[in-house]
Amino acid sequence: MYYPEPIERLVENLTRLPGIGRKTATRLVFFLLNTKDSYTSELSKSLLDIKEKIRLCSVCFNITDVDPCRICTDERRDTSIICVVEESSHMMVVESANPGIYRYHILHGVINPIEGIGPDEVRIKELKERIVRERIGEVIIATNPNIEGNTTAHYIGEILKPLDIRITRIASGIPIGGDIVYVDPLTIKSSLENRKTL
Ligand SMILES: [Zn+2]
Repeated sequence: MYYPEPIERLVENLTRLPGIGRKTATRLVFFLLNTKDSYTSELSKSLLDIKEKIRLCSVCFNITDVDPCRICTDERRDTSIICVVEESSHMMVVESANPGIYRYHILHGVINPIEGIGPDEVRIKELKERIVRERIGEVIIATNPNIEGNTTAHYIGEILKPLDIRITRIASGIPIGGDIVYVDPLTIKSSLENRKTL
């Protein structure tokens, strides 16, 4: 049994979203059918707006509705440090833990030779240009501590070496509140390498 075409079409479109199966999509459509008109128009408008109004900041490549973004124009932030992250969502995580301190550079990916993603596919060239232009003194590389993230961090380190700036990498180790018994050997190894004097 099929529903009327407009319902089928919306169900079909919703199932393209991650984590939404046909059952959930159908439930959402019937919920929408029973809500006020003002909600569905507001929802459709906000869907259109994310494509029309959201773009990348021309300085840091963060997603933004104003260019340069609010972080790049925030004068309270340290202008000599850039924190490099893989994605805008990673920036949000760093920012929520350290609000108002750093400015960022979003790579939009990591080097992954297996998937054919080389240095030119992520925004490393733009990072180097920006460091020279803005006379940056330190770059914190906050890519994930996995193979691709480490490869990318290493590559950035090599590319930036001639600039004679401080290049740091976020430490990886035992999570706060974690238990050493449950930590994998590679993390233990990294924790020991990154140990600090008490
Ligand atoms: Zn920006």
